[in-house]
Amino acid sequence: MLDVVIIGAGPAGTAAAFDLLSRGLSVLLLDKHVFPRKKACAGGITPKAMALFRYDISSVLRQACRSIRIRPRFGQPFLIQDENPLCHMTQRWELDLFSLNRVQEKGGQFQVVKKIISIEEKDLHLEVRTSDQLIKSRYLIGADGANSIVRRLTHPFCRVNRYPALEADIRADHPGPHFMEFDFSLPGKGYYWIFPKGDHINIGIYSIAGNPALKQRQLAEYAQNRFGSNPLSAVKGYPIGVGGYAHCPGKGRVLLVGDAAGFGESLLGEGIYFALKSGQAAAHAIVSSHGANTFPGSAYARKIKTMRGDLGLYHLGSRCLYSFPRASLKLLSYPFFHEKFAKGYADGKTLGQIFLGR
Ligand SMILES: Cc1cc2nc3c(=O)[nH]c(=O)nc-3n(C[C@H](O)[C@H](O)[C@H](O)COP(=O)(O)OP(=O)(O)OC[C@H]3O[C@@H](n4cnc5c(N)ncnc54)[C@H](O)[C@@H]3O)c2cc1C
Repeated sequence: MLDVVIIGAGPAGTAAAFDLLSRGLSVLLLDKHVFPRKKACAGGITPKAMALFRYDISSVLRQACRSIRIRPRFGQPFLIQDENPLCHMTQRWELDLFSLNRVQEKGGQFQVVKKIISIEEKDLHLEVRTSDQLIKSRYLIGADGANSIVRRLTHPFCRVNRYPALEADIRADHPGPHFMEFDFSLPGKGYYWIFPKGDHINIGIYSIAGNPALKQRQLAEYAQNRFGSNPLSAVKGYPIGVGGYAHCPGKGRVLLVGDAAGFGESLLGEGIYFALKSGQAAAHAIVSSHGANTFPGSAYARKIKTMRGDLGLYHLGSRCLYSFPRASLKLLSYPFFHEKFAKGYADGKTLGQIFLGR
């Protein structure tokens, strides 16, 4: 019997797999896609996320951004900058393939699965029935993103909000300098982003209340206004799972991680850091329970307590920003705030560490 089955080979699943394999447990990763696969994500890796990777990902970094231009709907744009990078740009298909390769090198197995049909917990193990096989393992990690089937099958009362995000690529006619940008001129609660990636620019819309059909048209209009007639390519939308600060997703031998657990933050929609962090926490909890033959839920809860507190703070930040955008962005435009923010971000700190010093 396998020690751990992980459903979903995004950042949360591969981070968990890598740590479990490092501690000598056997791991099977299942995903519905053959890799490399496209994944809706702007691929911005903050320094705090960067610090969590157990291996060097520099070969898949496209660009480092030391400045971020903020465009409020009212008032003047301003720059947040630091001498160290505030964000690293990747392509998610490339980063996820790279991580999956590291897991396989460590001895992890990977299988593409058509459909997860049921998950049944027995006394000493679990049974995962897929469209073509029955898999037995001691533990299961649900790392299958915002629309998680593992969550629906095993945590019926775990509420995750899904905030839509839509992205597209456009060709960069001028090699630079293109700033990384958050543009809050979007009508409603959300923003447009511009992420420069060398030979192309990734643009998108994040919304905490929105209609995806409307946003696609809006994105095309925005691209036209900002970059002229260059056509959009690779248009892709997907929800970000948020709201996980309010609960702790562990039940019996099953743990939820990353977007499946609602561990995206709702302020700007960053999720890779929290996916890595919760994946590693789940691995740690399973390793400690495996020896003691106990359920991993309480060890997992302890391990992600601070992270959930941080997510609560991002939630508060998003309430302020999107309810009072004018005042919030005015405050951020003061050097005292944005210099503190930039320094903390570049040093790999979370919002709680920057503003509460914890
Ligand atoms: C448009 C957009 C832009 C974003 N930009 C950023 C950004 O710049 N920086 C950032 O930090 N975050 C960003 N995010 C959020 C980030 O993408 C997610 O928070 C992050 O990917 C969550 O990682 P995860 O491993 O939990 O889930 P995912 O990355 O969603 O991975 C889940 C995996 O599970 C697989 N899967 C799903 N269902 C099943 C199933 N039924 N059976 C088997 N496998 C399944 C999927 O194929 C996928 O490989 C963005 C999100 C969107 C939508």
